[in-house]
Amino acid sequence: MSANNIQVAGIVNDSITDGPGLRFTLFVQGCPHHCPGCQNPETWVFDGGEEMTAEEIMEKIKRNPLLSGVTFSGGEPFAQAEALIPLARLIQQSGLELAVYTGYTWEELNTRTIPGAMELLALTDVVVDGPFSLHKRNLSLQFRGSSNQRILNVKDSFASGKPVWDSSGRWGLPE
Ligand code: SF4
Repeated sequence: MSANNIQVAGIVNDSITDGPGLRFTLFVQGCPHHCPGCQNPETWVFDGGEEMTAEEIMEKIKRNPLLSGVTFSGGEPFAQAEALIPLARLIQQSGLELAVYTGYTWEELNTRTIPGAMELLALTDVVVDGPFSLHKRNLSLQFRGSSNQRILNVKDSFASGKPVWDSSGRWGLPE
């Protein structure tokens, strides 16, 4: 794959399950976490999917004026954080909320060992963090699969120096 392109596993133009409101969900290809019980094991391999540019994906996003946000899911978005930065920048400029689902915890992302992670985080509004845990699976949770996962407001978390649950009320409550 080209370093600048995004390896895409799939796209849902009008999702109501990957965050509040109507969302454009980008499923990226490749995930190193291999959580038992993962719903998308076909996204684990890094050499599958389809290569797309940030501009191509942004064109698709712009076609739906009813969207309230964009969600990066996977696969593991932070495994190709550097490739996603230009798209995240375009999304931020468009005024749409950007949420990213990741199998990494907030603390792991902030170790500064994942290339591009801090830059992608800085362009993200909400992070749903941590691996899916079959042991902690709870079907009644909104917008996440297991109770160890947290829905964090990135700006508030950076300002506080610790993970802060999104307090907008749009993403649900911790338990
Ligand atoms: S992080 Fe997500 S895509 Fe990756 S194995 Fe876990 S549940 Fe599946």
